[in-house]
Amino acid sequence: MTAATVPFGGIARESAALKDAYRAAIDRVLQSGRYILGDEVRSFERELAAWLGVRECIGCASGTDALTLALKALGVGAGDEVITAANTCGPTVVGIENAGARVRLVDADPATLMLDPRRLEAAATPATRAIVPVHLYGSAVEIDCVLAFARRNGLHVVEDCAQSIGSTFHGRKTGSFGDVSAFSFYPSKNLGALGDAGACVTNDPALAERLRQLRRYGQASRYLHVARGLNSRLDELQAAVLRAKLPHLERMNRRRQAIAARYAEGLAGVPGLALPAVPEGVTSVFHLFVVLHPRRDELQRRLAERGIETLIHYPIPIHLQPAYAALGYRRGDFPASEAAAERLLSLPLHPWLSNDEVDRVIAAVRAAGESLRAC
Ligand SMILES: *Cc1c(COP(=O)(O)O)cnc(C)c1O
Repeated sequence: MTAATVPFGGIARESAALKDAYRAAIDRVLQSGRYILGDEVRSFERELAAWLGVRECIGCASGTDALTLALKALGVGAGDEVITAANTCGPTVVGIENAGARVRLVDADPATLMLDPRRLEAAATPATRAIVPVHLYGSAVEIDCVLAFARRNGLHVVEDCAQSIGSTFHGRKTGSFGDVSAFSFYPSKNLGALGDAGACVTNDPALAERLRQLRRYGQASRYLHVARGLNSRLDELQAAVLRAKLPHLERMNRRRQAIAARYAEGLAGVPGLALPAVPEGVTSVFHLFVVLHPRRDELQRRLAERGIETLIHYPIPIHLQPAYAALGYRRGDFPASEAAAERLLSLPLHPWLSNDEVDRVIAAVRAAGESLRAC
């Protein structure tokens, strides 16, 4: 008899656990008869800003749009270059290009797999206007070094916090450092909606005003267009659902951290297996639990045989994607990102896993690791 699958994601279990709160939230919206930019959005924006310790939050349609809106609000567009990580996921690049800017890439630090701030100098050109550090896996970039470089060179910083809601750098939450920061509430994120949703946050009220214009067709007031905007709104239903979930986020992130600690302890000493380091001063919220193994595909196959679902974040770095060939990079340009792409594997990690399930994953990885060394 085969044991039950250990699912990679926890969305179905999360919905079952929170469904009464969701239903109450949805009923409230139905009774209001208001579905776009109403009280739920305003309340969620206020509540998330308070949770993050920032002044302003502006809901929008997705994390990708949040990046585009952030750059447009900062005046970054055609003819400008924006630096981001070669090992990020595609939407970071889509968000930057939708603002009209050209992407420049920097490699990851091979130990942490976060964008390496020491490589910014070589990547910057006279056209560079902004940096988008990506806090991958729930960890965080060494943001102090990014900010110092940006300040020295007059560049904007837009943090990509799609995977990092709640992670901290020396005690301060990611998203509170940049000029504007972008969040995603895609269902699988640590704070997930029941569909697409996103937000920008900032401490600058003038930027916040501009973001509010840009998300509704560039209007300053009804039918007065003061900027070339988007239609990118957070709708009332998603805002109401996010309000129902936000009070649980702290506890859900803590559960992720407890599972990550259990993994780290249980996987110590597995032959060939390595874990990315969490940078000095960072507390990760473990959106993903990533391991590295030289025979990754074989490890993934053996885990699948034992019912353990895994994914790869991400199998192809940006500069090797067909869509981005025109950026002009070649294989070998970002060795840390390329090496990681061949060795990375994400194990199941979400707040709704039981300790028994985590222990089954650990046992399966240990067994596979031992046998892969032997052959
Ligand atoms: C999910 C994600 C995005 C995009 O968010 P969407 O809401 O899906 O548009 C951007 N950057 C990173 C790092 C992400 O993980």
